[in-house]
Amino acid sequence: METFGREAGWIEVICGPMFSGKTEELIRRLRRAVIARQRVQVFKPDIDRRYHDRRITSHSALSLEALPVTDARELLARVGADTQVVGIDEAQFLGLELLPVVQHLADRGLRVLLAGLDQDYLGRPFEPVPQLLAVAESITKCSAICTRCGASASRSYRLSAASERVSVGAQEAYEARCRRCCNGAHPAADNAA
Ligand code: ADP
Ligand code: MG
Ligand code: ZN
Repeated sequence: METFGREAGWIEVICGPMFSGKTEELIRRLRRAVIARQRVQVFKPDIDRRYHDRRITSHSALSLEALPVTDARELLARVGADTQVVGIDEAQFLGLELLPVVQHLADRGLRVLLAGLDQDYLGRPFEPVPQLLAVAESITKCSAICTRCGASASRSYRLSAASERVSVGAQEAYEARCRRCCNGAHPAADNAA
């Protein structure tokens, strides 16, 4: 386990597009913290109801128990007094309110691990992840495999023509694509093809 000082807490961010292994990596790190007998709590925004409600689940079916929360304030209220490690999946759904909450937890001496999308479906920075990257002690940027050409993929390409920023879905709604295979492609045009 990485450490950044004896008493100090720290922030680790795992980012990248959908299917890049963020949740797998988060679960791997959290399981190791449990093995190290750390007191661990895992949270997820309750917007993400794709799989079981009280677990975080990867596309490869790894899973870990997690507490669904509606916002960052609720998350803070639910962190136990003796918790040492906090894991948060799908951080992009908790908004900019998450930033001061995570800073506060790290300042209190906790290790905070977050996984989330760094870009939205149009390749725009997806707050609060860019802000979290700025204050994190450790950053891991994961890539997926482009479903079009097999290159490293940094984008979550939306297959539908939906234009709202948050549209929850998995395999049927998004695919990982590289920068080149996103350029010039338009969701509506793509569907018509
Ligand atoms: P994330 O949390 O970043 O969406 P997950 O940890 O849930 O990613 O899933 C990663 C797993 O998804 C991979 O180990 C692999 O089994 C599977 N997978 C499905 N499609 C792809 C893809 N296009 N590129 C990479 N992995 C993929
Ligand atoms: Mg995930
Ligand atoms: Zn590609």
